[in-house]
Parts: sequence; C-alpha cells; structure tokens
Amino acid sequence: MSGFIRFIKSLSLKELRIGLGVTGRYFFARKFTLQYPDDKTPLSPRFRGLHALRRYPNGEERCIACKLCEAVCPALAITIESEPREDGSRRTTRYDIDLTKCIFCGYCEESCPVDSIVETHIFEYYGEKKGDLYMTKERLLAVGDKYEKEIAAARSLDAPYR
Ligand code: SF4
Ligand code: SF4
Repeated sequence: MSGFIRFIKSLSLKELRIGLGVTGRYFFARKFTLQYPDDKTPLSPRFRGLHALRRYPNGEERCIACKLCEAVCPALAITIESEPREDGSRRTTRYDIDLTKCIFCGYCEESCPVDSIVETHIFEYYGEKKGDLYMTKERLLAVGDKYEKEIAAARSLDAPYR
C-alpha cells in the first residue's frame, strides 16, 4: 500500500472507530470482574486447600502415625516423628507440613487409611514472616477442630465428586 493511500485512510480514523467499537461492546457486556473479597467465584468440590488433621468424635486423634502420607509426599513437605503411648497405641509426637514446599497434589489425603490428614476448602490464608506457613501438628489439629463439620460434610457419600 502506498504511503499516499495510507495517509488518506488515516484521515478517516478507521482504526480509532474500530477501537471505540470494541470498547463500547465490552462496556455494555456482562462483567466478569468480581469484587473480591465481597464476591467470590464458585469453588469446585474437588478444590484442595489448607490442610487439617482430624479427630474422632470422642476427641481422639485419628492419625496412627503410619507415615504413609510422609512417604507418598512428592514434595517432601511432611515430617513425622512418633512413639508408642502407654496404652500401646502409636501416635505422632511431631507432624509438620511445610506449605511452602507443598504442591497441593492431595496424595497425603488419598493415602491416609483413617481420613486423618485432609485438605479443606480454605484458601484465604497467608504468612507475613518466616515460619507462618509451617503447619505444626497443633496448628493442623486446630484447623481440623474448627472446620470438622464442613470437612465431614464434604467427605460424606452424598457430597459431589467424593
Ligand atoms: S498435598 Fe501433596 S505435596 Fe502437599 S503435603 Fe500432601 S502429598 Fe505433600
Ligand atoms: S495422617 Fe494418615 S497417612 Fe499420615 S501418618 Fe497419620 S494416619 Fe498415616
């Protein structure tokens, strides 16, 4: 295209009118932007968020320190130490998950024979300083205690994509 024709076309402001047309179309179209945190997108029932350790209804820890979750974790994010209790049962003395290593694959949850370690739907958590995302046994149990009702409902046979 010769420079002269390009010059004549530029006088018609064709590109500008096309651009304004696109702007106008999206201006009146349905908006996809959400005002987070007031608005939230739907969450898949299969979403894997913050970990929790669960207890039985009588308060006893579910975890039997079998270490399957530690062995299966591809990110080596889980550290477990255990010893037998006086009644002969085995329980963890240390159960840590380093969330900065975790890739949220869900293998720990899948491998657990007693539904102890689970991944909740919680995704609104953060760390401000070193160690904030290092989940100790006490912190994991506290998450489990707080959200047990929701965790149990999500794992019921009626829940979608169980
Ligand atoms: S979700 Fe995956 S990476 Fe994270 S702790 Fe569990 S097994 Fe490890
Ligand atoms: S959380 Fe489950 S898989 Fe991991 S050590 Fe405890 S019982 Fe075993």
